[in-house]
Amino acid sequence: MIYDLIIVGGGPAGMAAGIYAARQKLNTLLITKDFGGQMARKAVAIENYPGFGEISGFELINKFAAHLKKFPVEILQDAVVRIKKTGQTFSIFTKNKKTIQAKAVIIASGADPRPLELPGEKKFIGKGVSYCTACDAPLFAGKKVAVVGGGNSGFEAAIALSKWSKKIYVLERGSKVRADQRNQEIAKKTGKIEIITDVVLKEVKGKNFVNSIVYQDKKRKNNITLSVEGIFVEIGSQPATSFVKGLVGFNKRDEIKISLETCQTKTPGLFAAGDVTIIPYKQIVIAAGQGTIAALSVSNYLSKQSEG
Ligand SMILES: Cc1cc2nc3c(=O)[nH]c(=O)nc-3n(C[C@H](O)[C@H](O)[C@H](O)COP(=O)(O)OP(=O)(O)OC[C@H]3O[C@@H](n4cnc5c(N)ncnc54)[C@H](O)[C@@H]3O)c2cc1C
Repeated sequence: MIYDLIIVGGGPAGMAAGIYAARQKLNTLLITKDFGGQMARKAVAIENYPGFGEISGFELINKFAAHLKKFPVEILQDAVVRIKKTGQTFSIFTKNKKTIQAKAVIIASGADPRPLELPGEKKFIGKGVSYCTACDAPLFAGKKVAVVGGGNSGFEAAIALSKWSKKIYVLERGSKVRADQRNQEIAKKTGKIEIITDVVLKEVKGKNFVNSIVYQDKKRKNNITLSVEGIFVEIGSQPATSFVKGLVGFNKRDEIKISLETCQTKTPGLFAAGDVTIIPYKQIVIAAGQGTIAALSVSNYLSKQSEG
């Protein structure tokens, strides 16, 4: 069997694409590692999605998913590891060794958290090193933790952690934090958050679990070992594109180049939407909008294919 469309990704871009594809009567399969994507990592409420004054990431995911499930879109929980095009047909290979074919594909695989790339970091993932405050904050109740990154995501993570942890260090490599004033004020009010600037991270240390992070004070040039049981990494994200190399072009940030009118990549029939693309503003409403453009473009592409 050949699907009209396979969508890769179950974040806002993928789910919006699924809704629109079903309404275009495209026989669609959505393959995703998880539902919700980055919305699930959002530690505090979402305040800028139109129609919902304030809503938690999990609630918004559930609303997107419930809406999608009203339509006949097949869903497969799996990871896509490779895409190949032969003639007019795409073959999608998954981690669970499935090979599935489609006439068109939308890549909506978003972005993964950017790792620190420090010695010890990988070893302690799930044992003190976390990339998801919304998921893991309660595990650090009563403990000292560090948040790496002094932007809004770092501050929001620190504020969310202040409900659980007894002390939170925000580690920033620059000489000033970059979070907006409002987040800085809320952080100050918690009385639990200490900001350390001019930090060059060196190593994550521990035995079975993390027990410290080592950094160099850029100004004094001395190494400092900070005792913490948790490290929350909030230094941005990187596009999830490893499975699609060769079929698409990238900009210097490794984002997929598309036509902003149609979401078409350089390969006919292969579209991309959301944070994985060159679109400059990485927001839920924009990802959903791009998913919509991509699905409507696929419908157009398939109509032209069948005509000609
Ligand atoms: C901490 C934080 C706070 C944020 N706050 C806001 C906010 O307040 N308001 C706002 O508008 N935006 C916010 N954003 C940005 C917003 O979350 C993103 O712009 C949006 O989620 C992008 O949607 P997407 O569908 O493109 O990608 P993602 O949300 O990243 O979803 C990608 C999906 O693809 C899946 N996937 C990835 N690789 C594969 C693969 N190989 N095979 C199968 N599936 C795969 C993932 O599992 C995931 O389901 C925030 C982001 C973060 C990290």
